[in-house]
Amino acid sequence: MIRVGTGYDSHRFAEGRPLILGGITIPHDRGLTGHSDADAVAHALTDAILGAAAAGDIGRLFPDTDPAHKDADSMRLLEEAHRVVQATGWTLFQCDITVIAQAPKLAPHVPDMTARLAEVLQVQQGQVSVKAKTNEGMGFIGRGEGIAVLAAATLVPLPPRSTPSSSLA
Ligand code: MG
Repeated sequence: MIRVGTGYDSHRFAEGRPLILGGITIPHDRGLTGHSDADAVAHALTDAILGAAAAGDIGRLFPDTDPAHKDADSMRLLEEAHRVVQATGWTLFQCDITVIAQAPKLAPHVPDMTARLAEVLQVQQGQVSVKAKTNEGMGFIGRGEGIAVLAAATLVPLPPRSTPSSSLA
């Protein structure tokens, strides 16, 4: 048995903010605006795993009206969302993420993002796919106003916990 979820996120660029994607700070003249650190990769993936578990969404779990989430490290929110998912009896099997940005070039940072996501989700790097593309100059992404991220995730059942009675059997 598996479950599948999808996630989407977009954020606007602004000056004076760091650009953080997949937990990695990427050199650029602008960063993304948001209540948290605006890590759109973490946000889209969080929604994908929550969606697969039918466990709500990132806004319901971590409301942006809550001062506790101001400038929050979104990789911590992703980790916490994965724990929520695991409490429902499921765990991440693999995920596939597409980051759409006109600039900067993200391909050189994909290995670092992949490694960081795998670390936080406690899976192998081969279970995490991150892809980067431009929007061919079209629309808000093409004009460099912001970026968008798509994510898909599959969950598999957690192995049943061994209990004292089953370990005696
Ligand atoms: Mg977001």
